Amino acid sequence: MGSGLVYQGVDGAISTIVPDVSVVVPIHNEVESLPLLLEAIASTLSSSQISYEIICVDDGSTDGSGEYLKQAAQTRPDLKSVILRRNYGQTAAMAAGFHYALGKAIVSLDADLQNDPADIPMLLAKLDEGYDLVSGWRQKRQDGAINRLLPSKIANWLIRYTTSVNIHDYGCSLKAYRAELLADMNLYGELHRFLPALAYIEGARITEMPVRHHARRFGRSKYGIWRTFRVLMDLLTILFMKKFLTRPMHVFGLLGLISMVSGTLIGIYLTFIKLALGEMIGNRPLLILAVLLLVTGVQLFCFGLLAELLMRTYHESQGRPIYRVREVVAKKVN
Ligand code: UDP
Ligand code: MG
Repeated sequence: MGSGLVYQGVDGAISTIVPDVSVVVPIHNEVESLPLLLEAIASTLSSSQISYEIICVDDGSTDGSGEYLKQAAQTRPDLKSVILRRNYGQTAAMAAGFHYALGKAIVSLDADLQNDPADIPMLLAKLDEGYDLVSGWRQKRQDGAINRLLPSKIANWLIRYTTSVNIHDYGCSLKAYRAELLADMNLYGELHRFLPALAYIEGARITEMPVRHHARRFGRSKYGIWRTFRVLMDLLTILFMKKFLTRPMHVFGLLGLISMVSGTLIGIYLTFIKLALGEMIGNRPLLILAVLLLVTGVQLFCFGLLAELLMRTYHESQGRPIYRVREVVAKKVN
């Protein structure tokens, strides 16, 4: 995490303050929305007596969003602007924001005013009930029916069905997280929409709440129908991670074994035919199948062993334990 929201008091003393919430906003060409967005976040949170910081991440904008954010950060004490070198995509921009966030809770939100900052206090109140992640649910979503809502319905169904995280709207950017949870997670690809699934792998308590959603007022959406395919590929990755991250040998080893055993059995059968019955086996398709199964089996088995090694390196090099502790309770002895 970053270095701190630093304040210099009247006596010259410097203190670091941990805000209640860091609001993280990924931004790619949204300059018209920014003034309204900053005002909306600031007025909601200050009127609810919540201490906050806004972290705007400029993801390689070309419309002057970056310049606007740099200027605004000079005058507003509640704003930290992170300017990325080029366009990396929404997930990377969010990850950058999470990195600089210092709050006890973190809220992510789109810059285009489609999410409503007025929902933030409600999400935070829900977190306080003991959840680690509260996801927004755009019940009345204001996007095109065929190109957005339909693919999203299918994707949501697939994700819900395969990841066993039971929420309705994975694509909603408006989510609130407990900070410790995000500290444990790494984001890649288009994985931000799988954050609930990743959080579930990390053992988080997850819930959802209906939130408002507005039609886009300025600019246009950065995504088209192709996003659906990228999301599907990411879904496969998540599925694999969820099931087998810490035990790849259970998948590959088992498949390899099945393949090797069936290859061997067919081989024995063919040997029997050849030696005992004296039949020709050289031109039988079954022979090819036996060889194929044996070779594939050995390869899968070795692949599983390699994956085990990789998995160990992955966990050990990053100091990532294979478990997550919610809390440790012990009686104090004095
Ligand atoms: N965004 C980004 N980098 C990108 C694409 C999008 O930071 O490469 C931001 C964008 O500025 C917005 C959010 O991600 O704040 C969601 O994008 P968009 O509104 O286009 O998605 P939609 O609401 O149409 O799903
Ligand atoms: Mg949008």
